[in-house]
Amino acid sequence: MRTFRRRLTLIMMSLVGISMLAAGVTMAQVYKDSHIRALKENMAREILLLESTFDFLPMDSAEASDYYTAKARELEDVTDSRVTFIMRDGTVVGDSEMTSAEMDNHAHREEIESSVRDKIGSAIRYSETIGEDMLYVAHGVTSANGNFDGFIRLSMSLAAVGQEMNKGWYYMGGGLMILFLVAAFVSFRVAAGLTRPLEKITRVANRISRLEYDARVDLYRRDEIGQLGAAINGMADSLQQQLKVIRDNEELMESVLANMTGGIIMIDSSGNIALLNRVAEKIMHVSSDQIQGKSYQVLKRNYELLKFVEEGITRQEFLREERTIYNPEERILQLDAVPMFEDDDSYKGLLVHLQDVTEIRRLERMRSEFVANVSHELKTPIAAVKGFAETLLAGGVADKETERSFLQIIHDEGERLNRLIGDILELSKIESKRAPLEYAPVHLKDLFDNIIEMLGSSAAKKNISLNHYIPEHLFMEGDEDRLRQIFVNLLSNAISYTQEGGKVRIDCEITGTPDEEKITITINDTGIGIPKKDLPRIFERFYRVDKARSRSSGGTGLGLSIVKHLVELHRGTIRVESKIGEGSSFILELPIMQHTSETGSI
Ligand code: ADP
Repeated sequence: MRTFRRRLTLIMMSLVGISMLAAGVTMAQVYKDSHIRALKENMAREILLLESTFDFLPMDSAEASDYYTAKARELEDVTDSRVTFIMRDGTVVGDSEMTSAEMDNHAHREEIESSVRDKIGSAIRYSETIGEDMLYVAHGVTSANGNFDGFIRLSMSLAAVGQEMNKGWYYMGGGLMILFLVAAFVSFRVAAGLTRPLEKITRVANRISRLEYDARVDLYRRDEIGQLGAAINGMADSLQQQLKVIRDNEELMESVLANMTGGIIMIDSSGNIALLNRVAEKIMHVSSDQIQGKSYQVLKRNYELLKFVEEGITRQEFLREERTIYNPEERILQLDAVPMFEDDDSYKGLLVHLQDVTEIRRLERMRSEFVANVSHELKTPIAAVKGFAETLLAGGVADKETERSFLQIIHDEGERLNRLIGDILELSKIESKRAPLEYAPVHLKDLFDNIIEMLGSSAAKKNISLNHYIPEHLFMEGDEDRLRQIFVNLLSNAISYTQEGGKVRIDCEITGTPDEEKITITINDTGIGIPKKDLPRIFERFYRVDKARSRSSGGTGLGLSIVKHLVELHRGTIRVESKIGEGSSFILELPIMQHTSETGSI
């Protein structure tokens, strides 16, 4: 742009310069011509004046030549010109500069010849005599007294004219220079006025190409440049709008992809991974940056998935399959392959949807296992009740003692059945989250006093010491009935699985952070302990370490799983530490305050 402005200024200045030079030269020529013409006219007038006033002497007189020469010299002083008297035949009779004898015949001088033709003749010529350009003006003169018939010639050096001319040139040069500077300034302004808006437009166009779509040209002109600015603004407007639409669409697509619960992988027609969302990244343990744009073969770590994609690409039809991948943990994926086609039915790529169904399948398996377990658990006491009742009915039992013991078994098994059904119902109630927890401040010491009173007799029966060490004024927010259920369950277990004379104790301390204060309650016994291999599983439903012992203690195998659910509803955790033969500790961590917005429910 700068060069354009410079070039424009230069062109304008050269044009001005050239035209001014041409004007100057023409003016000089005109000036010179008119000056010479004025000189000529002046000289002609002087000759005419001489013709009428000069006292011509006859030619034949002996002193004629001297006379004319002397007169010529006189006249030179007056007229400031060289004066020459020339006879009709060209003989010089007098000259102000030289003697007539020195001078040759002048009949063929240009000015003489032309004065014969035109009455007044003139010529400009270099004079060897004077060594300058001279203007000669000659006029045919015939004196009234008939003494002279010839020509009077005046000549003048043009050096004076040259000097005048130089002066003229000097003034004109100065004037031209000033004019030229003014013209330069004006043309610079004009060029700047022309290029500045162009520069503005270029700047805006550059900004737009650097993706600054809010750049606008602020030109308010009606001419072509104004129209160009408006066109650029219009272009930027439409770009901005289109970009917004594109961005909105992109955001929409991104948020859809990011918030989908399933994984999405898009493979283009050449088999490269065009896109994958966060869930897919998580399932496959890859990052989209690493594999986007690469061939789907990079999925080889997820072999089953790779095979599925391969099948989808070759078959180009909707496929749905469930496959297990190991990456490294086992995951069950439901895979959908949807081929995509262009309008003209040409294949565009493959969309693969991954749904992690591991959890669903695990729950399904658990549910069916649970049903199998429940029926099994129910069958045992029912079989016992049925068997003993049948024996009694058949009347095969003679002594009263045996009969009584049979009836006791029927009663106990009935009780167990009742407990079992009660626990199953309880568990299903908790799991289906039907009854909400009712939070209230719970005074822990009172709660444990109450529980120990309740379980005191069964502990005393086994001579087990049962103590708690709860600070006096400790409160926590929770559902008191549910908390009681938790601790009764844990303490009953502790008493059940501890031998005679053992110890069961409850400790309590405040833990957590100042932001989230917690209470850690430990229920510790000196009982039989739990084998290490069973530790991870004892919170599972119906899981019992020793079936026979559990049964004999009246356990259902559901207690700990109910406990775990209830603890979690209170936003707490439970874990177990145990050493076989030494005892077990169940450690609960519960928040002191519940956030009411997250009210748990059962
Ligand atoms: P149960 O009704 O059989 O006691 P739970 O779910 O309450 O069922 O407990 C599961 C299993 O965990 C029990 O069968 C028992 O083997 C073991 N267990 C629970 N508490 C203790 C404990 N305090 N000491 C030793 N083993 C325990």
